[in-house]
Amino acid sequence: MPAVRDVSFTVGADEVVALVGESGAGKTTTALAVLGLLPSSARVRGSVRLEGTSLLDLSDRAFSALRGARIAMVFQDPRSALPPVHRVGALLVEALQLHDRRLSRAAALARAAQLCTLVGLPGRTLDAYPHQLSGGQRQRVLVAVAVANRPRLIVADEPTSSLDVTVQAQVLEVLHRAREAAGASLLLITHDPGVVAGHADRVVVLRDGQVVEQGDVTTLFDAPRQDYTARLLRAEAFAATRSEVEPTGPAAVELVDVHRTFRSRSRWTARAADEAVAAMDGVSLVVPRGATLALVGESGSGKTTTALAIASLEPPEAGTVRVVGTDVSTVPQLGRAERLALRRRVQLVFQDAGGSLDPRMTVRQALAEGLRASAATGADVAGVLRLVGLPAALADRYPHELSGGQLQRVALARALASRPEVLVLDEPVSALDAPVRAELLALVDRLRDELRLTCVLVAHDLGVVRAHAELVAVMYRGRVVEQGPAHVVLDDPRHPYTRALLAAVPVADPRVRPAPVPLLDDDAPPTAGCRFRHRCALRAALPGDLAQQCTQVDPVSRRTEGRDVACHHADVPVQRHP
Ligand code: SF4
Repeated sequence: MPAVRDVSFTVGADEVVALVGESGAGKTTTALAVLGLLPSSARVRGSVRLEGTSLLDLSDRAFSALRGARIAMVFQDPRSALPPVHRVGALLVEALQLHDRRLSRAAALARAAQLCTLVGLPGRTLDAYPHQLSGGQRQRVLVAVAVANRPRLIVADEPTSSLDVTVQAQVLEVLHRAREAAGASLLLITHDPGVVAGHADRVVVLRDGQVVEQGDVTTLFDAPRQDYTARLLRAEAFAATRSEVEPTGPAAVELVDVHRTFRSRSRWTARAADEAVAAMDGVSLVVPRGATLALVGESGSGKTTTALAIASLEPPEAGTVRVVGTDVSTVPQLGRAERLALRRRVQLVFQDAGGSLDPRMTVRQALAEGLRASAATGADVAGVLRLVGLPAALADRYPHELSGGQLQRVALARALASRPEVLVLDEPVSALDAPVRAELLALVDRLRDELRLTCVLVAHDLGVVRAHAELVAVMYRGRVVEQGPAHVVLDDPRHPYTRALLAAVPVADPRVRPAPVPLLDDDAPPTAGCRFRHRCALRAALPGDLAQQCTQVDPVSRRTEGRDVACHHADVPVQRHP
């Protein structure tokens, strides 16, 4: 069966075309066909032309020479796209000299330094290995490699889907600048309606391997002809709030001044174990029974460590984590039966459902363990599958036979099989397309209400947080910098970091083009005073004496306007920001 058929579209000079569609619609296959990277077993018919050159008629050698020169690519996972054994400088020099053999090493190095500047990275990045860089920095290196030879077309396959909103905004800004500098067109594969609206000129919609609709971005957002297109381009209803009533009642989850530190290799030196990174630095929060708390923040903020601590998988070094009445720091001293009982009452659902399920086990076998733990309730495989909206016929399938949405439902079913009281969901929908994501979140909401679950949701999509959580805790470098009812924090954020997160969310409206984003060239935090101050827009606008307070005194969390916020100047009106 063909993966794609009768796919026809054009990308004009200097144009950005977004290729959208559910997983399995044929987006990546189409991109790989354009790049000549489909496996040799694939049969490709038709015509792919780049400025008059018929790409499908090229020999492998001629296509290789063209790739990286006239067509370049930026993939989703820069970790696998960048060879780990080469420094960034060597990678860029190689990319440049491969397509211009007369270029001297000195000239190539000078151009590599220019490329680093173009993508907002400091010159020392040239001496770094890919593993010494953050995900966003690696993606910027990939953009620099892509535009090194001033290509005519860049193909970017989900270039930001694994990144946090602030890092995503920076990588998109870098891609925009680099594309303009190179004078290239862009074929952009993305499942994010905000990214489509903010960056594309035209949109091509794929379904089951065929183009079902295409047109300019405003027309497709305003008047899509297909319901399918409307569902794909509809963002999570950001205006819809789960509840404006602050949840109260006995706590199901309570953290008091929790600390957790990891040793880590420095980003910029080869010395091992020379940095202590505080993943949790005095984290305190409460989730009343039946409520949903969202943990948000960039990678490295400590939100996943906090979620794992609640799931009793990451014991705290100091402080108290109390879950359904049990202090999890006492878990090592508990007997096996008590430990298992606690594990049964608190269940975790991971982002990568496929990776969290054993590929050798059928769905039935995967669910059996949880069901054994709750044998007294009389639940069975078919019943648990029904609970998550899956047919009983799926019970004898293996994970590789399921779609992404089905896998995530099976992971949810496995968690629910033991009848937990607390469900910890770590980015449960971030790998899914918009329609599947909306269905799964609606299911979690329904189950939460029906089964009276308490939920802790790790999320980077603030639209998801708003629609599905009553409470939110915003984390930055191991600290909770702002927390309170979701509608209070998201409607009127008081911490400059919360404001920055909200400002970075792409808006699913083509009339609202993203504002230029300042590129951060160094993410090393200050060691004294407020740890956010090197990125803080508010501090930059403060008079000297107030700004000095940020430099000298570490802010502690205090109650203001219905939420807790750790900023000396949370009361300064927002219009004073630059
Ligand atoms: S304390 Fe100062 S630097 Fe820190 S977030 Fe507040 S204004 Fe910004």
